[in-house]
Amino acid sequence: MSDRYKNSKKAFEMAARLMPGGVNSPVRALKSVGGTPFFASKGRGAYIYDIDGNEYIDYVLSWGPLILGHCHEEVIDAVMNAAFQGFSFGAPTEREAVLCEMIREAFPSVEMARLVSSGTEAVMSAIRVARGFTGRDKIVKFAGCYHGHADYLLVKAGSGAMTFGTPDSKGVPEDFARLTATLPYNDIEAVRQLFSAEGDRIAAVIVEPVVGNMGTILPREGFLETLRELCTAHGAVLIFDEVMTGFRVAYGGAQELFGIKPDMTALGKVIGGGLPVGAYGGKREIMENVSPLGAVYQAGTLSGNPLSVSAGIAALTVLKREMPYQYLENKTKKLCAGLEETAKKKGIAARTNSCGSMWTVFFTDTDVYDLDTAKRSDTTMFARFYHAMRDRGVSLPPSQFEAAFLSIAHGDAEIEKTIEAFESSIYSCLI
Ligand code: PMP
Repeated sequence: MSDRYKNSKKAFEMAARLMPGGVNSPVRALKSVGGTPFFASKGRGAYIYDIDGNEYIDYVLSWGPLILGHCHEEVIDAVMNAAFQGFSFGAPTEREAVLCEMIREAFPSVEMARLVSSGTEAVMSAIRVARGFTGRDKIVKFAGCYHGHADYLLVKAGSGAMTFGTPDSKGVPEDFARLTATLPYNDIEAVRQLFSAEGDRIAAVIVEPVVGNMGTILPREGFLETLRELCTAHGAVLIFDEVMTGFRVAYGGAQELFGIKPDMTALGKVIGGGLPVGAYGGKREIMENVSPLGAVYQAGTLSGNPLSVSAGIAALTVLKREMPYQYLENKTKKLCAGLEETAKKKGIAARTNSCGSMWTVFFTDTDVYDLDTAKRSDTTMFARFYHAMRDRGVSLPPSQFEAAFLSIAHGDAEIEKTIEAFESSIYSCLI
């Protein structure tokens, strides 16, 4: 196997001299599983290829956007047609409203939206608007949820249930982090206590309604309902970060799945069909605070970019027509069941969490429902799993604490091959 990644290794050496860690987003550098990344050359359907000519079943799918698989024809057509008309105008186009209308139809809570260029931008803008709307500064997030890299969101909890934050990243001023309270995910009592102490100073609660960023974790019954109830009672803005779950776990995202209406929603990933995009929106009375209607400033040179918006419209059109969510869920369940059964046969402690087409194998023997339980997983075993699977033509997210995905291009053949790869990994390198 030593030459299998020869070209990728060479490319990585060059990249590492020029870019921090050789990458443009840290997780791609494989720090948590060791080794070096493969360099991608192309993708088709459920498969991604590297510059050494290796083929992989792709469960990363650009970290979520590619729910239709790589290079879906209708998305390619839309992007090509748009490209011939011009790459960017800096003037409004009709299709921006078309995309916003598609979003509103799927997410009735999003009465008005603003398009931006990334999930990070969507979330940080939503928080600014929530603060402007409420006239309050404090925000609440949950440990292990990732909401992009805005300063005051790079904060995690200490071990206590109610820790007013310390920064997770150097370069984030303590003063910014202090405005962020971090609570354990799924801990209803902790949220109640915080609201009873500070409720009237909280501008917003932001949550991944289904978490992808500590591996896939589902909300326990009553958790999201309690957030809704407390935010309403205290005049705080409930923000669902559906950058990952939007148009992914259901056409109308986690809010459709769980029947809860947030005040604001952040979107990204799927709504750009693989091109850079984000969106935030919510109740009209809140969104009317955004410039130029209101006094909360937010802008972007490439916001509503014609290529991204065209790709997004095409992707959502396919999803709306085909409604593949049951298919995706069935396939994901089949894959997870196969992986669990294989692990069980060999006495490996592993369990899976999944929601729709988001899934994770945790190497642990306990339920995983928050950051602490996720962290009990055997990350050394995960690292071996990652590499063993990759060497057998299966590309997984290179971290125990990231969700994997399925696309409509993944069929039974891919699932069977993946389970076989896991079986042979177990025999040769996992135990
Ligand atoms: N929110 C969530 C839930 C995410 O998963 C991500 C990215 N993984 C972001 C926000 C940030 O999005 P982006 O990387 O597009 O800035």
